[in-house]
Amino acid sequence: LLETNKELHQLSITDGLTGLLNRKHILDLLDREISRSRRYGHPVSVLMLDIDHFKNVNDTYGHQTGDAVMRRLADCLCETVRENDLVGRYGGEEFLILLPDSDAQNGVQTAQRIRKMVQDLKIETSGEHVSVSVSIGISSYPQYGQDTNAVICAADAALYQAKSNGRNQVVLSETNVCRQPAAVHVL
Ligand code: GH3
Ligand code: MG
Ligand code: MG
Repeated sequence: LLETNKELHQLSITDGLTGLLNRKHILDLLDREISRSRRYGHPVSVLMLDIDHFKNVNDTYGHQTGDAVMRRLADCLCETVRENDLVGRYGGEEFLILLPDSDAQNGVQTAQRIRKMVQDLKIETSGEHVSVSVSIGISSYPQYGQDTNAVICAADAALYQAKSNGRNQVVLSETNVCRQPAAVHVL
């Protein structure tokens, strides 16, 4: 019974396609990390990452190849970050990476490393060679948001900026970008 419960719990926190933490769980973990930060005074950084022009990948190679690209990218993200960092699937082709005990400058360095890793990645799947790039928005607690919603909102705004600046780039949030945080944590 214990074993079954453990498996059920694992299933309930895992994204079925990529094997990453699912949206609900990564947001729960961000809540937890922010509470810890509040108590101990360490910062926590958040990277919101979105695959560039992913619709084109599906349109060109088909959804199955698109799915395979997502899985490979998810594996590479896990290999690229540190052991204590947390990687989750936030939405369709969007990922959240939490960097405990890291300030925004650490976040920018990690994001640049990830962006370059993805840019250089040659994904081979069903005989196709696919390359993608990612745009990444960065925010951190407490610098760019006072709670989970505000930190997510700030990362989302930075991601939006990275997209409109031309994609395949990393953008750090601006201070007070989300004074009125959007209700993004409704699950
Ligand atoms: P942008 O650079 O602006 O992000 O362009 P985009 O094409 O990535 O963005 P858009 O929001 O237009 O399209 C997202 C695409 O991601 C379309 C959708 O089919 C694809 N997608 C989302 N989830 C999955 C998935 O689980 N599997 C596959 N294969 N594709 C997915
Ligand atoms: Mg996209
Ligand atoms: Mg998207």
